[in-house]
Amino acid sequence: MRKGIHPEYHQATVKCNCGNEFVTGSTKENIHVEICSKCHPFYTGTQKAVAARGRIDKFNRKYGIANENE
Ligand SMILES: [Zn+2]
Repeated sequence: MRKGIHPEYHQATVKCNCGNEFVTGSTKENIHVEICSKCHPFYTGTQKAVAARGRIDKFNRKYGIANENE
């Protein structure tokens, strides 16, 4: 390895919006992410349904058809 051409490699602390923290190798020392393997819908499964339902409710409210049949 030649000196001077490689960036410094740190143990980076990655912080997620969900509060999860984990350590990874990176050229940055601190990384902030909005979604991680702990809270990503792909891994959790359940949150995806909640988010999708929230969007549908929002859509229905926006167009005033949420309580049409009640
Ligand atoms: Zn997360």
